[in-house]
Amino acid sequence: MMIAYLDQRLRLAPGTDVDPCGDGGELDPDLEAASKDFGGVTRALPAVVRRPCSGDDVVEAIRLAWRYDHLTVAPRGNGHSVAGQALAPDGIVLNMRAMSRMELVRGDGGQLCADVGAGVLWGELLEWGVAEHGLSPASWTDYLGLTVGGTLSNAGISGQAFRKGPQISNVAELEVVTGEAERVVCSPERRSDLFYAALGGLGQFGVITRARIPLLPAPPLVRWIRVVYASFEVYAADVEWLVARPEREGFNYIEGFAFVNRGDDQASGWESVPIEPSSVFDPGLVPPSSGPLLYCLELGLYHDVHDGVDKRVEEMLRPLKYIRGLEFTTELSYVDFLSRVNLAESAARANGSWHAPHPWLNILISASDVVHFDRHVLQSVLKDGIGGPMLVYPLLRSKWDPQMSVALPDTEVFYLVALLRFNRPYPAGPPVENLMAQNREILTRCKSNGYDFKLYLPHYKTEAEWAHHFGKDWARFVERKARFDPRAILSPGQLIFTRAH
Ligand code: FAD
Repeated sequence: MMIAYLDQRLRLAPGTDVDPCGDGGELDPDLEAASKDFGGVTRALPAVVRRPCSGDDVVEAIRLAWRYDHLTVAPRGNGHSVAGQALAPDGIVLNMRAMSRMELVRGDGGQLCADVGAGVLWGELLEWGVAEHGLSPASWTDYLGLTVGGTLSNAGISGQAFRKGPQISNVAELEVVTGEAERVVCSPERRSDLFYAALGGLGQFGVITRARIPLLPAPPLVRWIRVVYASFEVYAADVEWLVARPEREGFNYIEGFAFVNRGDDQASGWESVPIEPSSVFDPGLVPPSSGPLLYCLELGLYHDVHDGVDKRVEEMLRPLKYIRGLEFTTELSYVDFLSRVNLAESAARANGSWHAPHPWLNILISASDVVHFDRHVLQSVLKDGIGGPMLVYPLLRSKWDPQMSVALPDTEVFYLVALLRFNRPYPAGPPVENLMAQNREILTRCKSNGYDFKLYLPHYKTEAEWAHHFGKDWARFVERKARFDPRAILSPGQLIFTRAH
């Protein structure tokens, strides 16, 4: 039935009516939704959208693609890419959200794990794990409306990653359907070639249908702290010292962001720092010699109700050289802390910036270049802010297995710089072309200054750019593609390979 349907559909212009299809997954009538993403800059109408419910449905879709010379298959998580990575022009989009099963299991070593469908949102996993089992994954993203399969195809980074590694370092097992329509259960011990290829693999080697995520006891509470620095060098010295602390003496969550040294910018100025609505940012405490940007170190300490947390926090903050008086703190349940970005989402939906274009830029840059980057990019090109968060915080390469597909700078300590633009749509906000030009200017400076950097959530258009991105690992990436998806059917929106016959 599906083949007959697709034969008919591919003779029609994309976007015309869709009939429901019974076997092996329901057809989604909303082709329009699958033609765009959160970035709002790239659009491409697929021929068809399917909602697989099982690995067999994915196998069927891939086999179907073999029958047509040009047909590609893009698994779509929650469509939160920003440059068309989850689109399939005239191809099949697999809306993975129906793969939403969650089950508590014991892993091979006896550890409790969550076996989850790839379409589960991290927020759903958090709620289920904590409410039903008192258990939680170790590593998160800031925003939880992302799918397990989507972030495992990239990395999944937040303030836990310095210690626990990114989400791709916290997976015990995957089920993957390759471009050869082979359904494989893989792990570090079994079919490890496919396991590591798929992690950070940009959807190129297979469709992740299920992931086994190790769980830990969820702490009851989190002490959430923000402190402010006028100097990037002082901020960087403190935050790099903190991420190197042994676990028993350290914080559980460490991030940081740059913000504009002004009071008239609600989104990314002084007002963006206090956590509680009742706290006030006193600009009189900022040294008069400070530059256009200030820096906020953000910390979280997991703890129990009666464990002397005030004294511990005081001792842990004492060696830090932040501006005294500019510290902000609150206490939240673990679930509320991890869901903290929900408030920002509601505000962005209310002011129109959630649905505006998001030309975001995410860079991983070596710690040895980050002070220069601060001076010649942050304090220069971005001195007026970007209308949203400018995250800048360190990660440790030793927490990332080099067998995974993701490309990283060469040094042990590198920083995530995430420019998360939340502008209102033009003409209330700036034209998107200006923001994209600013991104290009930043990348030009990174290259001309010779920084050791990689794009996170990369988007390139030519093979030469991709080869440069992966560097010495490009040959491995190409070899993995030839082994697992030789027809180049999967995730065409990444623009890495061209569909082969
Ligand atoms: P999609 O955008 O739908 O897909 C991403 C890519 O993965 C596509 O190429 C797609 O084909 C492929 N893919 C999707 N599912 C599968 C699957 N099951 N198997 C194989 N390939 C698949 N990232 C962080 O690391 N940390 C953050 O804190 C963070 N916060 C964010 C906040 C917001 C508001 C947004 C919009 C994004 C954020 N991201 C963050 C980026 C996010 O990790 C990526 O957008 C990621 O792609 C996950 O989104 P998604 O599940 O919607 O996947």
